[in-house]
Amino acid sequence: MARGEEKTYTGLPVSPGTAIGAALVMLGLLPVVDEYEISQSEVEGEIERFRAALNKTRTQILELRKHLDEALPEKHTKILDAHLLITEDKLINDEVENAIRTEMRNCDFLFKRVTDKFIEAISNIPDKYIRERASDIQDVSSRVLLNLRGGAQVKYDHLPGPRVILAHDIIPSETAGLDRDNVLAFATEVGSRTSHTAIMARTMAIPAVVGLSPEMLSIRNGDIVVVDGYKGVLIVNPTQETLAYYALRESREAEIQEDILKENRLRPETLDRFRIQLAANIELPEDIEIAKKYGAAGVGLFRTEYLYLNRDIPPGLEEQFGIYQKVVSELEGYPLVVRTFDIGGDKLGGSVPLHIDPNPFLGCRAIRLHMDYPQLLYTQVKAILMASAFGNVKIMFPMVVCDDEAGQLMGLVGRVKDDLLTDGVDFDDEIEIGMMVETPSAALIAEQLAERFDFFSIGTNDLVQYAMAVDRNNEKVSYLYQPSHPSVLKLIYFAVKAAQKSGIWVSVCGEMAADPRYLPLLVGMGVHELSMSALSIGPIRRMIRRMHFHDAEEVLDKALKCTTADQVLDISEELLYRIAPDIMSMMLYGE
Ligand code: PEP
Ligand code: MG
Repeated sequence: MARGEEKTYTGLPVSPGTAIGAALVMLGLLPVVDEYEISQSEVEGEIERFRAALNKTRTQILELRKHLDEALPEKHTKILDAHLLITEDKLINDEVENAIRTEMRNCDFLFKRVTDKFIEAISNIPDKYIRERASDIQDVSSRVLLNLRGGAQVKYDHLPGPRVILAHDIIPSETAGLDRDNVLAFATEVGSRTSHTAIMARTMAIPAVVGLSPEMLSIRNGDIVVVDGYKGVLIVNPTQETLAYYALRESREAEIQEDILKENRLRPETLDRFRIQLAANIELPEDIEIAKKYGAAGVGLFRTEYLYLNRDIPPGLEEQFGIYQKVVSELEGYPLVVRTFDIGGDKLGGSVPLHIDPNPFLGCRAIRLHMDYPQLLYTQVKAILMASAFGNVKIMFPMVVCDDEAGQLMGLVGRVKDDLLTDGVDFDDEIEIGMMVETPSAALIAEQLAERFDFFSIGTNDLVQYAMAVDRNNEKVSYLYQPSHPSVLKLIYFAVKAAQKSGIWVSVCGEMAADPRYLPLLVGMGVHELSMSALSIGPIRRMIRRMHFHDAEEVLDKALKCTTADQVLDISEELLYRIAPDIMSMMLYGE
């Protein structure tokens, strides 16, 4: 792409909204490279540091090539040969070393400046083959810079200003430490609607697009980009015309948002008075502000695993207690459902070292970590119980698949309570204990489990993944990720009916709860609560208030007789477009 020319990349829209701003490309975990001066006596050491990083990079590339030699066609390993040559490029390396001597600045900064210059020059060459070499230089440059930092993971806790983050992927440990005030939007190469980047973006109420071509990573830091979280596009170097169009949309969205915020206090109930609680999902304590702003009646899911990521040592008892106590106090009487950590699966890279399971989503995840780290869950349950003396706190356990686990978890809560009693520490002895229904096994034995627990929260993100045998983060099989598939619908229905029969509270906290297309189905089942990212609460409230419960029941009745996901969606959408075409177009297209 010639510099300055508008280019559009199309991906998957996963968080609504429009953002316009400067790009920050997080390549290989490298966002910002600091610049600092060095003294004359440090020059030789700095050159040595630079050479050592180059050597380390060469060794890594050679190792990678050895590893890939058998597995991949020659074409791919040739790319690594080209990368090796770049590390040996005399033109680049001499220029960096000379600059260290004459300018007396850190080698990271100078190396990046030199490679950026080469990338820029090559990107403007008409020959496509030569132009493509820019991404090779970029790749090598990232590796060298990472090695200069000792290979350690870079934290994004301080961005140079408001930025649109572009990345191959943003892993949970990175989002956990992000400088949130300055993130305008996310655009990534991998991901899906239920992947952590998407969930995090929605919680932060910022637009996001995933599943974009890797080519977008050749966009330069500082280039102006537009992220359209409705259409699922990323536009680089927008023309004046495009900018004018999106500026107008931004202000239109702001108007709609303002309008919706005015309805915060309206009851989320259908025209025939069926009432549903609307709560927020949060990942970090600071999310509570947005949750309150958008009118959440409590927190239906606090994904506490984010507290364990992006740090070396897990949060201790006092720290966790402080966090839960603060969040519940801010809720002023509304409930706070604290889900114990769901570490594992795709949530790795934090203070709890895990074996790399061959199938992480089927391996040692969530409560299964007891076996390796019994003390971790004990400490967390204790902190939650201690916070229960200060407000309406509930405990929720993720990934419960069988009755034995339920028994063990109840035993654990009992032991913690005994210890607190012995120590004379206050807690709510009547604290409600719930579980996530997020596996087919749990849904199918829901009647038994409902005897054990005080409430269910249906985690449709995982339930769809396990029912359809489709990795929730893998864009290649995303066509099979079908929340409206009759099998999924029946599992949810089964769990809801079991809860109702036992008289326990049932909520839905997966992403289905925030998607208007599934709303008639969930309302028709008579769930008590929908918990979602705060941004969706307003529009979902509006939609509920346009609906009749008996119409939703009728939709569900027909849907349960369908054989395909599309048939179910057609029936549901027919009702939605009949009663609220305006809300549908606002939620799905932002206009
Ligand atoms: C779910 O599985 O639906 C859920 C809410 O939990 P998570 O997305 O954190 O796995
Ligand atoms: Mg889950």
